[in-house]
This record gives sequence, structure tokens and C-alpha cells, in this order.
Amino acid sequence: MRVVVVGAGISGTMTAYFLHRAGCEVTVVERESGAADATSFGNGGVIGCTQVEPWAQPGLPLKLLKWIGREDAPVLVRVGQIPHVMGWGRRFLARCNAADARDALAVNVRLTLYCLEQFAALREREKMTGEEYDLGLNGAYKLFFTPEAFAHAREFGKELAGLGAPVEALDSRAAAEREPALGPIGDHLSGVLAFPKEEIGDCRKFTRWMADRLQRAGVRFLYGTGVSRFRVESGRVRAVDTHKGPLDADAFVVAAASWTPGLLKDIGIRVPVIPVKGVSITVPATPWEGALQSAVIDYSRLFGLIRIGDRLRVSGSAEVTGHNTVPSPARCKALVDSVLEIFPQFAACMKAGPPLYWAGLRGNSPDGVPILGRTPVGNLFLNVGHGPEGWSTSCGGARLVAAAVTGERPEISMAGLEYSRFH
Ligand SMILES: Cc1cc2nc3c(=O)[nH]c(=O)nc-3n(C[C@H](O)[C@H](O)[C@H](O)COP(=O)(O)OP(=O)(O)OC[C@H]3O[C@@H](n4cnc5c(N)ncnc54)[C@H](O)[C@@H]3O)c2cc1C
Repeated sequence: MRVVVVGAGISGTMTAYFLHRAGCEVTVVERESGAADATSFGNGGVIGCTQVEPWAQPGLPLKLLKWIGREDAPVLVRVGQIPHVMGWGRRFLARCNAADARDALAVNVRLTLYCLEQFAALREREKMTGEEYDLGLNGAYKLFFTPEAFAHAREFGKELAGLGAPVEALDSRAAAEREPALGPIGDHLSGVLAFPKEEIGDCRKFTRWMADRLQRAGVRFLYGTGVSRFRVESGRVRAVDTHKGPLDADAFVVAAASWTPGLLKDIGIRVPVIPVKGVSITVPATPWEGALQSAVIDYSRLFGLIRIGDRLRVSGSAEVTGHNTVPSPARCKALVDSVLEIFPQFAACMKAGPPLYWAGLRGNSPDGVPILGRTPVGNLFLNVGHGPEGWSTSCGGARLVAAAVTGERPEISMAGLEYSRFH
């Protein structure tokens, strides 16, 4: 079977991997000059259950109202964008209730646990040591600074554990025994949720390693090639138009993140995904003696700080501002200031050389769950909507999508994951 995959981020590249393993003849079409040059370039690096909570939560609409117009707010919706995201916004707001949030959480945990299994199996199969992408296995910690916030987190931790996620609540002393960089802030910390099985790694390095390996194995990667249109005849996609000419195939997978809706609207496939810009700042770790070895996520200030190899990366911010990928100086500063409030040692890392400022567009679905597999067009499939967790869900999501294309039975239930849930 000949398959065209649109997009060479982590989602498209991993879909190509599983399709190739299933014996398909795969062509990946990417408009950038290489793999992982868009959202998969500089993400927060964490793989696992710290990312599974959907953003549509009961308290969020009120917070969004409070944050309107504040340039440094954790979530900022630019007023000019409101008309473009109305339909998506209505769906999102309708999901801001406890029952829907619980359902989405359960689907994400199921997918993420499957994905962690797939990562481990892949490393073994491909004889990866982890050095290829600066794999770190020191886990992740969510920090809580008030007894109320920690009490709420403990309840949430129980819910997650009930779904099978490896998570435990620790007091500040126990947390500092595992991650010594938390020692100096112990007096302020009420407690942490620890995720010992969380993995950390450089998504871009991983994707590029995989794309190179696939190219050597015969998968075609057409870089610098933008897809402009899908041609549908008799209910099936016949070809995609690119500026270098049409490409035909038996099946097509779109893994074009937040650019997907624009690509498919002309053929009547309405994909509810919007771009939500986030930023990251990467600096050398060495100037901070005793620097963090794991990942920490501060839920009150809404940032993640992670160790990737010999670097530290802070990531966060959510800005609805269209497809613009310029990192906003005000939002980067707000993130760095938040880190410095807790870890003043980070200042030395910021001074050690020019920090790498980056922005990327999370492709968010309204319910916070990826959109995987079949569409109403028989030979067209989706691997999109991964939002803030697309590195975590990549391996499992891609395997499920490849199974949908080849007609294999998926290894986990597809309930709550397919496009049909919106229509
Ligand atoms: C600040 C930030 C922090 C994050 N932290 C984490 C984290 O810690 N853990 C986690 O799991 N996830 C995280 N994420 C999310 C994760 O990075 C994304 O979900 C993931 O990278 C999405 O991968 P993708 O392949 O779907 O999209 P992309 O990497 O954006 O790939 C889509 C590709 O499609 C290409 N494309 C688009 N249109 C066309 C076209 N017409 N023709 C050809 N090619 C096209 C694009 O050029 C792009 O390369 C974070 C995201 C951000 C922004």
C-alpha cells in the first residue's frame, strides 16, 4: 500500500515509522527544510502523565475572563483572534465541567500509558541507548506552594493513580531526597506530586534521528514541499497537490498539527484544532551548581523547568494569536521571572551565553484529546490535535493511526480518540 503522510513533526515521522514497519511504501511531505522544525522543535521535553489533564476544566472560563488584556497572563486570548476561534471556543467552554474533564483525562491516561510502553519497546527494537535524544529517567515533579493547592493535588493524584498512572504525593523533605535541587525551596513547598516513570528527552533530536533512519530504510521524505490541496473523487482522496506537482497514493495521513483545518476545509473535513502559542527558553545547565536533574512543573506560576542533557529548558505560556511563531519578549520574561522567584540560581544559566528563545504552536482540540484515525473520507486519516502533550502521545498515537490505515486491530480502544466524536 502506498501512503502519503503530510507533516514531518514527531506525529508524522512516527506514523511513517509504524507504516513502514507494516510494509507500506511511505512518502512524507514536509514544507520545512527538515524534520521537527515546527512544534516538535523546542517543546517542554516531558513524556508521560504530567501532561494528561485537559485544559477544559470547571474553573477555567472565569480565570480566562480575569486574564483578558494582561500581556503576562499564563493564558492570553488576543481579542482579534476571537472571531476565528468562536466555534472551537464554544465547544471548549461546553467541556469546562467536571464530568467531561474526567472523561478526557481517562482517555489521555490510556493513550499515554500505551505510548510509554511503545517508547520502551521502540528503544529496544531500534537498539537506542537514549543518548540519541538526551533521554533522562529521573522523573518529574509537580510543585504546590499552599496546603490547599497540595490537598487538591493529592485528590487529583488519587484519581490519576486510579486510572493506572504512576504518581505519588510527597512532602517537601521526601521530594528533596529524590531531587536535591528542591532542597533550598523546601520551606516554601507544601508538597509535590511525583511522577517517577516520566521520561524526558529532546523531541527534535529524536524525530530527526528517526527520520534519518527511515530515509536510510527507503522511506521518501520530500522536504521543502508544501501541500496545498486534497483532490477527492468518488469519496476518496486521489492525490494531494504540492507546489512541485501532484502526489497520488492509496491512503493519506494528515499530521500537520494546527495547519490541518486550513488544509482540509475545502473537502468538507472540519477539524476542530486551533494554534495555541507556547514558548521555551534553553540555556546551559553547568553554571548552576547542583542544578535540577529531572523536570519540575509549577502549577501556580504555570511553567515547566527541565533538564535535557547538559541544558535546562523552561517552557510554558499559552497565547491564542493565530499562526504567528515569534516568541513574545514580554511572555518570555514573565516565564523567566517566575523561574527566578523559585530558583534564583537559574540567573547564572541565563547569563552563560545567549539563551535560545523559541515559540511553537500547540494544535489544541477542544476536549484536550488528540484526534486519531479515520475520517468520513475512506482513505484519509488524521494524527492531529495533540496540543500540549504531543511528544507524550506520539509513539502510541502513531501506532494507532498506522493500524487504522492498514486495517489492523488497534491494541487499545479508540473510544474518545476519533474524529467522529465531534460530528
Ligand atoms: C511550549 C511548548 C511546550 C510543550 N511541552 C511539551 C511536553 O513537555 N511534552 C509533550 O508531550 N508535549 C509538549 N508540547 C506539545 C508538543 O510539542 C506537540 O504536541 C508536538 O510537537 C506536535 O507534533 P506534531 O508532529 O503533531 O506537529 P508539528 O511538529 O508542528 O509538525 C507538523 C508539521 O506539519 C508541517 N506542515 C504543516 N502544513 C503543511 C503543509 N501544507 N504541507 C507540508 N507540511 C506541512 C509543518 O511544517 C510541521 O513540520 C509542547 C508544546 C509547546 C508549544
